[in-house]
Amino acid sequence: MNFQSSALPVIISDSNSVNVKAEISYVQGMEHLIEVIQALSLARTLEQIMEIVRKSARELTGADGASFVLRDGDQCYYADEDAIAPLWKGQRFPMSICIGGHTMRNHQPVVISDIYGDERIPFAAYQPTFVKSLAMVPIRTSNPIGAIGTYWATLHQPTGEKVKLLQALADTTAVAMENVQIYNELEQRVRNRTSALEKEIEDQQKVEAEVRRLSLTDQLTGLYNRRGFFLFADEQLKLAHQLQKSCCLLFVDIDGLKQINDTFGHEVGDRVITDAAELLSQTYRDSDIVARWGGDEFVVLISKCSDYTNAITLRLQTNVDFFNQNRGRSYHLSMSIGVQQCLINEDASLEKLVLQADELMYQQKRSKRSSSIC
Ligand code: GH3
Ligand code: MG
Repeated sequence: MNFQSSALPVIISDSNSVNVKAEISYVQGMEHLIEVIQALSLARTLEQIMEIVRKSARELTGADGASFVLRDGDQCYYADEDAIAPLWKGQRFPMSICIGGHTMRNHQPVVISDIYGDERIPFAAYQPTFVKSLAMVPIRTSNPIGAIGTYWATLHQPTGEKVKLLQALADTTAVAMENVQIYNELEQRVRNRTSALEKEIEDQQKVEAEVRRLSLTDQLTGLYNRRGFFLFADEQLKLAHQLQKSCCLLFVDIDGLKQINDTFGHEVGDRVITDAAELLSQTYRDSDIVARWGGDEFVVLISKCSDYTNAITLRLQTNVDFFNQNRGRSYHLSMSIGVQQCLINEDASLEKLVLQADELMYQQKRSKRSSSIC
């Protein structure tokens, strides 16, 4: 923002020239101030406020420098400045010894037309600077939060109206700073609420995923249940049809589980089921879909199966035999197995394959029974 185009002051030479000059300066100053108020109302950060204020403080007073001072506990922090030569930007001084502190403590403007004749001035701080005169006003007169300083390189007595304008700028600055604070707090609240909502959504999604996982998983074995099997095996089967790959459906039923339950108890019966589940998972690939169909029955969809069906059965039987020899269980694990192959171009449904494999498993079970009777 540039206020130089309508720079102060306008001099009219008549008998009332001094009054007329002051009045017009004040009016023009008020026009400046209105523009500054508009700009400040749009400021969203303290940095934006300081940039507007440090420039406009000089423009409104015709000063050679301006500083923006913030109260930081019992110290004055010279946060920003706009001047013909460096002042004290970035420095801190105790409230008790600097003019910023003085104006804040007294809640009113300070005007010093000759700093070297004023005992309130800490000379050591001023000596390296160009400053000869100053006017300083508190930001927010009740409970000040900072101060605006204006400085001249020559001895200068700013008019009461200029000081009033400066104070009006400081009052507007206080409102803008409070707005920024409210704005930041609101933004922070929105951010907090947004992240709380995101967390809630994330938790909800986790719960939903867990519910879904549980709804598709058999609790005892950790394998898919029947619903899970249909969901994933159906996809796999359709893909196999599309890619013209043959696949196999294996149907397994544990032999004599009732007998094991009756002899060793239900817990051991459960162990038989989990052992069978483990063996099936170990025997087939991760990409194959192993599920507990229900009770002591299991199904496996073996995709991309190039093996003959009896090779598939043999692989499982070998692992079962190894298990029986080496795991030292109190029972002998035995399974009846049916394998139905789904050949390329044979567009069989999953349900049909399961029925066919079940039937094949049953045939094996019947022949086992009849051979054990013989
Ligand atoms: P078969 O040799 O003809 O397969 O007879 P089976 O004794 O294995 O009995 P069947 O397959 O006809 O029925 C399954 C039995 O498995 C029925 C039930 O007593 C038992 N069973 C089913 N689910 C569970 C389970 O979760 N835990 C235990 N311990 N037993 C189960
Ligand atoms: Mg059985």
